[in-house]
Amino acid sequence: MSRVLVIGCGGVANVAIRKCCSVSSVFSELMIASRTKEKCDVLAEELRKTSTTKIETAKVDADSKDELVKLINSYKPDLVMNIALPYQDLTIMDACLECKVNYMDTANYEPEDTDDPEWRKIYEKRCKEEGFSAYFDYSWQWAYKKKFEDAGLIALLGSGFDPGVTQAYVAYAKKHEFDTIDTIDILDCNGGDHGYKFATNFNPEVNLREVSAPGSYWEDGHWIEIPAMSIKREYDFDQVGMKDMYLLHHEEIESIAKNLPEVKRIRFFMTFGQSYLDHMRCLEDVGMLSTTPVMFDGKEIVPIKFLKALLPDPASLGPRTHGKTNIGCIFTGKKDGKDKTYYIYNVCDHQECYREVKSQAISYTTGVPAMCGALMLLTGKWNTLGVHTIEELDPDPFIEALDKYGLPKSESHNPVLVK
Ligand code: NDP
Repeated sequence: MSRVLVIGCGGVANVAIRKCCSVSSVFSELMIASRTKEKCDVLAEELRKTSTTKIETAKVDADSKDELVKLINSYKPDLVMNIALPYQDLTIMDACLECKVNYMDTANYEPEDTDDPEWRKIYEKRCKEEGFSAYFDYSWQWAYKKKFEDAGLIALLGSGFDPGVTQAYVAYAKKHEFDTIDTIDILDCNGGDHGYKFATNFNPEVNLREVSAPGSYWEDGHWIEIPAMSIKREYDFDQVGMKDMYLLHHEEIESIAKNLPEVKRIRFFMTFGQSYLDHMRCLEDVGMLSTTPVMFDGKEIVPIKFLKALLPDPASLGPRTHGKTNIGCIFTGKKDGKDKTYYIYNVCDHQECYREVKSQAISYTTGVPAMCGALMLLTGKWNTLGVHTIEELDPDPFIEALDKYGLPKSESHNPVLVK
């Protein structure tokens, strides 16, 4: 029995909330709060017909700590699930600390305004010192570690698929398959087709910022940064087939490198079709991916926000997306003195997801781990105080929950390696 406050009611939150409401014995009371309350009301209305979870809704601006504190103090949840945008991570963490409530999210902090001079100073110093230039990094949230410990609270960071399940796969490989891990390749393949020439599968602003940034990987204790999309490989994915994939910077590389310092190389690859890449390059060349406001017809607009308004809403892709995703990790390392390879992954079918929760597999593969992460915290399976990423925690109950709630693992002990 628990009381949970979910912030955000977009594509990922929709799946997570539906899944929470299917486990009413744990998620007995739930409040859905977001910027647009109408979306929360529509979902609550639908779920009240089938779930015994007691659902309430509220309007909140999660950029305002005062509004959050007021809402949290009035609802008194056991856990706040932040499934809004990464821009809100720090305000929600601050509000949780003030109200003494556990916190979790699905993506690490990045600022909405990357032109803010104060943020930029810290960012530029970090680029020089660390050697990667993505707008997001864990330092902002890791800085809360002691505050959460002292308050007797837990903050679970990045409980989606990647980050999230991929880090549980790393912990699982380390616990059950290897004495030492030498290399990790994280492979994220979306073999789905939605029929549009260009659309993003989750929030377009966050997605396009991520994939248009320089790529980077971890090797021998430091970052190696490369121009965006400049390392390409082909891989034959189980149940999907042969796909082109490109090396990207990705947030879990940073935390895995910190928590498993033995690993010599960590890379992240994501598949993209040619049409997606051509459109993205063109949009970038004409400045449409910029986050810097420009004046248009006497009004200030942010190009990437305007683009978001033109693109299909990711939540609308569900009924038209066919095909499968395949996301997982390939490891090399040693067990009992012998070289070993291992691949653990999940295959998820877009149409099956749609039939179950009215969403495509990208929101599904993020929303289910968000629910499972919350389940770990609410049932006390993960109870170490402080700020944690998932490779730090026991992977077994989490992977068991994923198996049960829709994202079963597949394994291979003789995988084709990525060159
Ligand atoms: P959406 O844009 O679909 O949804 C975001 C939701 O947050 C919307 O309901 C939006 O409200 C709400 N929101 C935005 N700003 C505020 C605010 N200031 N106050 C209150 N509510 C706000 O995004 P997604 O569902 O696609 O993504 C959700 C999160 O999941 C993101 O952080 C994303 O990075 C992460 N993610 C993680 C993945 C992983 O594998 N770990 C993969 C994919 C996504 P409104 O309806 O008014 O716009």
